[in-house]
Amino acid sequence: AKAGGKSCYSVFNSNMHAEAMSRLQIEAELNRGIEQNNFVLVYQPQIELQSKELLGMESLVRFYHPQYGLMSPLRFIPILEDTGIIIKIGEWIIQTAVHQFKTWQDAGLPLKHVAVNLSATQFRNKHLLDSVREALEKSGLSAECLELELTESLLLEDTNSAVKTLKQFKDMGIRVTIDDFGTGYSSLSYLRRFPVDSLKIDKSFIKGIISEPEDIAITVATIDMAHALGLSVIAEGVETVEQRDFLRDHGCDCAQGYYYSQPLNHEEFAKWTIEYEK
Ligand code: C2E
Ligand code: CA
Ligand code: CA
Ligand code: CA
Repeated sequence: AKAGGKSCYSVFNSNMHAEAMSRLQIEAELNRGIEQNNFVLVYQPQIELQSKELLGMESLVRFYHPQYGLMSPLRFIPILEDTGIIIKIGEWIIQTAVHQFKTWQDAGLPLKHVAVNLSATQFRNKHLLDSVREALEKSGLSAECLELELTESLLLEDTNSAVKTLKQFKDMGIRVTIDDFGTGYSSLSYLRRFPVDSLKIDKSFIKGIISEPEDIAITVATIDMAHALGLSVIAEGVETVEQRDFLRDHGCDCAQGYYYSQPLNHEEFAKWTIEYEK
C-alpha cells in the first residue's frame, strides 16, 4: 500500500478491509467445506412430459456457511471459479452425484440418468475427462447414466476446444445438455457443430410461456429446432400446470421445476421417487 494518504488508509480499514476479510474468510470456509461436510447435493426430478415418467434428476450444490447459513450457488460458484477451488469441489460433486445415483439404481429406483452441472473452469481443466472416468469406474455406474450440463456461453468461449472435449464425452457414452439455452449469443449455426444430446430451455423463457408472445415464440422455436437437429428438449423452471400443459402440447420432451418438486436432499428425493404417481 502507498505510504501517507491517511484517508485512503482509513477507508481501506473500514470498508475494503472488512470486505476483503469476509471474502478471504468465505474462501477459507469454502476450501474446508468438503472436510467439514458443509457442501451438500440436492436433487430435482426430471419428468418426461408425454409419459409422465420420472426420468432422472439434476444435482444442485448447496453450501452451509458456518456463520452465514445457506449460501446460494449463484454467490459461491463465482468465488470457487475465481480461486480455482471449483476443481476440487467439482470433483467432489461429480463423485457424490454419481455414487448417489448408483446407490439408488442398485436399490431399484427406476431412474435413467443424473445430470451434473459443469462450470467453465471445470470444463477447461485438462484432468476433467480422467476425473469423470474415475468417478464412473469407482462407482460402477454406466456412462450412459451420466448427463453433463454446460452453458451455451461456456461452449462459445472456445468452440474448437469445446467440440474436441464434447466428442470425447460422446465417445465415452456420456450425454451432454446445453444449459440456459437461449440466454447466450443466440447464434444458432454453432449448434450443428456441437455433438450434444439435448437443449435445456432457460427458466426465464418458461416464466412467460402463458402470457408473453416473445417467450412463447422463443420456446416453440427452440423445441422445433432441437427436434429438427435430432436433439431432445427439456424445460426448467416449470411451476404451474398451465406451463406443463403448454410444453407438453408443443412437443417439449421433459420438464423440471417447482410444479413437480423443489430440489430435495437425498432422503427426501428417495421418498419423493417412491411416492411419485404419474
Ligand atoms: P441452473 O443450472 O440453471 O439451475 C436451475 C436453478 O433454478 C436452480 O437454482 C434451481 O434450484 C432453480 N429452480 C428449479 N426449479 C425452479 C422453478 O420452478 N422456479 C424457479 N424460479 N427456479 C427453479 P440453484 O440451485 O440456486 O442454482 C443456481 C445456479 O448455480 C445453477 O443454475 C447453476 O448454474 C449453478 N449450480 C448449481 N449447482 C451447481 C453445481 O453442482 N455445479 C456447478 N458448476 N454449478 C452449479
Ligand atoms: Ca443446470
Ligand atoms: Ca437456467
Ligand atoms: Ca445456469
